Amino acid sequence: KNLVKHFPIKGGILGRTIGAVKAVDGVNFFIREGETLGLVGESGCGKSTTGRVILRLLEATAGEVWFRDKNVLELGKEEMRALRREMQIIFQDPYASLNPRMTVGNIIGEAMEIHGLARGKEKEERVIELLETVGLTAQHMRRYPHEFSGGQRQRIGIARALAVDPSLIICDEPVSALDVSIQAQVINLMQDLQEEFGLTYLFIAHDLSVVKHISNRVAVMYLGKIVELADKEELYRNPQHPYTQALLSAIPIPDPTIKRERIILEGDVPSPVNPPSGCHFHTRCKYCMDICKVEDPVFKDYGGEHFVACHLLER
Ligand code: SF4
Ligand code: MG
Repeated sequence: KNLVKHFPIKGGILGRTIGAVKAVDGVNFFIREGETLGLVGESGCGKSTTGRVILRLLEATAGEVWFRDKNVLELGKEEMRALRREMQIIFQDPYASLNPRMTVGNIIGEAMEIHGLARGKEKEERVIELLETVGLTAQHMRRYPHEFSGGQRQRIGIARALAVDPSLIICDEPVSALDVSIQAQVINLMQDLQEEFGLTYLFIAHDLSVVKHISNRVAVMYLGKIVELADKEELYRNPQHPYTQALLSAIPIPDPTIKRERIILEGDVPSPVNPPSGCHFHTRCKYCMDICKVEDPVFKDYGGEHFVACHLLER
């Protein structure tokens, strides 16, 4: 709810705050239990920061994060510890997120121990079970991360997240670093696991083709704000925001009878330090009107939970 994360910029010889990177600039959405919400946008739009703020790996500047009946941002240390088990993250880069000096068995087992879930023989059995669940074997337990391929490492990352029996997993571009041929395997695995364990996913990606298969609903983010959010079918068939339309036009359509014009966005994403006034997208939008330069469009439901932030829809 109205989630904000600004990173202060210090400068000058006094190290005073001279500005802020407005990474997340007032974001609103909900995720239903058991669903996958895809969160898509170009790099630097604030999607990873949103994920980290939800988990309190970064402290929010303002806003609320509700998990069931608790505002996560107000919880004390003890309550937060218990909640950490429920909310896990899978990182983009399985190379960087696994400790190279620990065996795979220890990496997965560590989380169980921290949360007091299992130890000794029981822990070992659980680790083996988890390895098998993600398509690895008991023999892999005593090996080190560097002995595995990228896809296998991401499977280890997934097993580590599952080790504490979470309900929500923030998947921060889990397949972006993988070969295209491996991406589908990992996404399929994640879908199977979701069904088996009743998981809820916030699935972050930088393009709409990656989340198409796995998402129930999709949110599109631009420069710290969500500009459109809808049911997956609706968003791909009937995109309303000019930015979503541009992103979608970049995806090849398998059906040759459908013609879609490729929309090329001019210029780069502006800096989040000084985002454009009014609608953040106005510097690149071909429909830009006078009002767009001064007034930030309200993100609202135009029917059937199809949320859009654009002045075009107000007319
Ligand atoms: Fe374009 Fe205006 Fe809509 Fe922003 S509010 S996307 S500038 S038409
Ligand atoms: Mg990122």
